[in-house]
Amino acid sequence: MKIYINGKFYPEDEAKVSVFDHGYLYGDGIYETLRAYGGTVFKLDEHLERLRNSARLMELKLPLDDPKVAKAVYDTLAENSLTDAYIRITVSRGPGEIGLDPALCPEPTVVIFAKPFKDYPPEMYEKGIKVSVCRTRRNHPECLDPAIKSTNFLNNIFAKVEAKKAGAVEGIMLNHSGDVAEGTVSNVFMVKEGELLTPPAIAGILEGVTRSVVMSLAEGLGIPVYEEPFNEVRMWQADEVFITNTTMEVMPVTGVDEHVVAGGAPGEVTKRLRAAFREEVRRCSKTR
Ligand code: PLP
Repeated sequence: MKIYINGKFYPEDEAKVSVFDHGYLYGDGIYETLRAYGGTVFKLDEHLERLRNSARLMELKLPLDDPKVAKAVYDTLAENSLTDAYIRITVSRGPGEIGLDPALCPEPTVVIFAKPFKDYPPEMYEKGIKVSVCRTRRNHPECLDPAIKSTNFLNNIFAKVEAKKAGAVEGIMLNHSGDVAEGTVSNVFMVKEGELLTPPAIAGILEGVTRSVVMSLAEGLGIPVYEEPFNEVRMWQADEVFITNTTMEVMPVTGVDEHVVAGGAPGEVTKRLRAAFREEVRRCSKTR
């Protein structure tokens, strides 16, 4: 694997960042996870916009403009001869003296790597997955805004550990008011009587790129979509539940802890949206 660090490519075993990088010392950094299909990076502009938004929210000046980041992403794919790939862009505050002040770090560190994409097992899409509602609450937006896709991920890691202990694929995190916020690495949707609901931004979530694609696909299919808070009981009682993210796309949920959802099989709305999403991937891959 060849890894991009600040404008140069390094073989994997030589790809190193400083132990004084504040990304390492304090979790002071941001990232994006992207996916390339057939040589096209899906919704690259949307991911770059979110990276820029994360940077703005933490007052980090990105050293590259969007076209330069986009070029670096495509160069990383080319260097690694990849067309279907998992891609990660990480921007950390950079190396600096010990201390929390970001001004100690004159130069952010930009790392991009790409590796072959490994599909999730097909049974997960065919049967749906189990999720577990975690005791760990999502960060309060006034403490650490979940809208920042930050490398400071302990909040979600704690929830992931709980979910794993509960035998679930994903952990669902509630917010400070007790409503569903999001998964540890995903957004949550529920379907009730033909309507699609997902927690609003003010619930304290990261607004997923996949989430917004799914919302507009639903509108195109004539499925009413509402950004509306709901609690875990409404989620168990939903007709259908699914989660979304860049790597899973649209993943049906058929169990929430001990509760069976959607009669234990992926529902029709979920299946339609998954098919529409796959079609959107094909359309975007052709139009580049
Ligand atoms: N919420 C969190 C906390 C995430 O980490 C992610 C992605 O990793 C998402 C939501 C989904 O975002 P996207 O659809 O852009 O991958």
